[in-house]
Amino acid sequence: MLPFLRPDLAQLVAYTPHPGSIESSDSSGINAATPIDRLDTNENPFDLPDDLKQKLAWTYQQAIESNRYPDGEHGALKQAIAEYVAETGEDTRFVTPNHISIGNGSDELIRSLLIATCVGGAGAVLVAHPTFSMYGILAQTLGIPVMTVGRSPTTFEIDLSAAKTALSQTEAPIRVVFMVHPNSPTGNPLTAAELSWLRSLPDHVLVVIDEAYFEFSQHTVLSELQFRSNWVILRTFSKAFRLAAHRIGYAIAHGELITALEKVRLPYNLPATTQAAAQWALTHRQTLLKVVPLLQSEREALFQTLAAHPRLQVFPSDANFLFVQLAATVADAWNCAPDAALDRLFLQLKAQGTLIRKTGNGLRITVGRPEENQRTIDRLLQLLPS
Ligand SMILES: *Cc1c(COP(=O)(O)O)cnc(C)c1O
Repeated sequence: MLPFLRPDLAQLVAYTPHPGSIESSDSSGINAATPIDRLDTNENPFDLPDDLKQKLAWTYQQAIESNRYPDGEHGALKQAIAEYVAETGEDTRFVTPNHISIGNGSDELIRSLLIATCVGGAGAVLVAHPTFSMYGILAQTLGIPVMTVGRSPTTFEIDLSAAKTALSQTEAPIRVVFMVHPNSPTGNPLTAAELSWLRSLPDHVLVVIDEAYFEFSQHTVLSELQFRSNWVILRTFSKAFRLAAHRIGYAIAHGELITALEKVRLPYNLPATTQAAAQWALTHRQTLLKVVPLLQSEREALFQTLAAHPRLQVFPSDANFLFVQLAATVADAWNCAPDAALDRLFLQLKAQGTLIRKTGNGLRITVGRPEENQRTIDRLLQLLPS
């Protein structure tokens, strides 16, 4: 390792954007002509409609000066986001542009939150495994300790007694608690008990509630935000809004926290095309979000079919993906360890062109277009032992 690098980076495992991608196509025997069903990153399977894409191209050609820096204050976009956010909950007139910070994806906001709270030995973060891996990865890149607690193996509710113990220890005092609502990869929303624990946390602990899947779940803690200066909600344009390529996420929080996030971010974090895309998406949100009910009903159909299979355990999900575990009889039939059975299924699906994610002792399958979901079902049923 180069002598000037931080030694702890040697242990760091970076986020794998497409763990199932086709770089090893020769060994997997995948045919170049096989259509690839990308069901491993929870994107919306529908690209922007052609007319919107054309408008965006027009904006780039006519309204964006490539030689000029983009708007570093995101003024117009913050206004538009604040208006959209206010529509998404009860009692939300308190949401103004001063309560919004926009990031290059919510990933950037997660990093900004860590910089604003924990960097330099100021504290540790708490996550409940399995959950979105970026919280832990970004914390590690900044040298911030990560404490992990478990979840119920049947409901995926957080082990609250372990969480309380973690909060009360003083060796690595916890400054930030990260929660996904509904969680990824397991799809469960926060329960009443979890929410009441989060409400009980003291003012010096920041509670991050990541609502990346809000448009699919319609679960939000937005109306409580005005009473809680230590809560922040994260949302993104990468999922329901069909803009993963453009990288836009936003935080909604108390004005002072927003000011801190604005201080620590890069001055021109959002390219002009990205800001334009987000503006278009909000103006045309009725059109863009029209596919949400279709994806919800596809999720239910996929759930029903997979749940009926005796070799699978499928968990209810409020997001645009399903979490699936294998019955012990699968590993028995294949004469291998449970984890090897997951690997085998994952790799065989990949060889046939279905990319999913193996995580948290299960498989996370993004809900795709109807024909993709049908292929997922056909392939799974054919690969599982009869
Ligand atoms: C997909 C996802 C995000 C989105 O990240 P972006 O950087 O905005 O693309 C954030 N949090 C969770 C839990 C996610 O699953």
